[in-house]
Amino acid sequence: MIKIAYFDASVETPEEIILAGDMTPIRLFGNPTIGIDKANEHVPPNHCVWARNILQQAIEGFKDDFQGIITSHGCDCTNREFDIWLECIDLPFLFFLNVPLKRNEIALKFFIDDMKELISQLEETFNINITSEKISKAIKKMNQIRDLLRDISEYRIKMTLKGSEFHALVKGVQQMDKDKALNMLETKLKQLKTNKPFLDKNLKKVLLTGSVIDDTEFIRFLEKLGFQIIIDDLCIGTKYFWDNVDETEDPIYALAKYHLNKPIYSTKFPSYKRFETLNFLAKKYNVDGVINIAQKFCEPILYSHPYFSKKFKELEIPYLFVEMEYNRESYKQLATRFEAFAEII
Ligand code: SF4
Repeated sequence: MIKIAYFDASVETPEEIILAGDMTPIRLFGNPTIGIDKANEHVPPNHCVWARNILQQAIEGFKDDFQGIITSHGCDCTNREFDIWLECIDLPFLFFLNVPLKRNEIALKFFIDDMKELISQLEETFNINITSEKISKAIKKMNQIRDLLRDISEYRIKMTLKGSEFHALVKGVQQMDKDKALNMLETKLKQLKTNKPFLDKNLKKVLLTGSVIDDTEFIRFLEKLGFQIIIDDLCIGTKYFWDNVDETEDPIYALAKYHLNKPIYSTKFPSYKRFETLNFLAKKYNVDGVINIAQKFCEPILYSHPYFSKKFKELEIPYLFVEMEYNRESYKQLATRFEAFAEII
């Protein structure tokens, strides 16, 4: 089966369109164990470390046999990298999907038009037919996955599922065949119903937010320091299954509406809109604190941080902001800051 990768900092790529073409969507992730010397030849040193890491993999050649890559409009880093990809990558299909920042009728129409352009270019390149019926079928499948992930996510709160296990599960779903993902999630949910809560009552229950945090090892590192991520607003987390796509409307319209109606993601502005979601989650789940992680040079997160800091202080919700390098050695250097935060909450 043809594999189409997507480079997306805010999970706004409509995977259903790829599935409707009988192809497999695979999300691209960074690899914190590699160097980024080749990427550094193309971009300035103050370009986000995560996006640079993926550029490095693209230049070296992905290990998987992708036939195409879709980049969705996330932050300025992902947008501008696409221009470099056009020069450096030799694949039959490269497409930039314009996901609008604004959320009004004009933006919706713009997004629908761009999705239609994506469909027609996929059809032309791979000689396939992406029909409305096939998209509707794919929406149903993805909605089942979203339902299961939402149910499974709640076991983090019941303290029977570790945050790191859940993170690995969502990451797996974004990279695997969706029928296999469905089976895996159904089995996991059955198993979770019989799990007993962790014995450790001292774990600090936190809300995790920030940049793309795709290294599950980082979540395990936080757990070793005494945290349990009970909720998040991450793209490898709730932003992937926040809501369902309406199955009764025209499928392309429903997909566009779904992505534009989701709570705004960390790559986008305004900060006060993002804060509304964080505040809602922090209160709903009664968290002990909020941890906000910025990948080094991640401008959207750096921009929102002062506002979040002020607002959480007003609400007396403990808040920690950390900017970090995208490599595992750097995690250890941050241990003291996380330990100090665990002590005060
Ligand atoms: S980590 Fe930040 S700067 Fe980097 S791609 Fe994601 S949103 Fe953009």
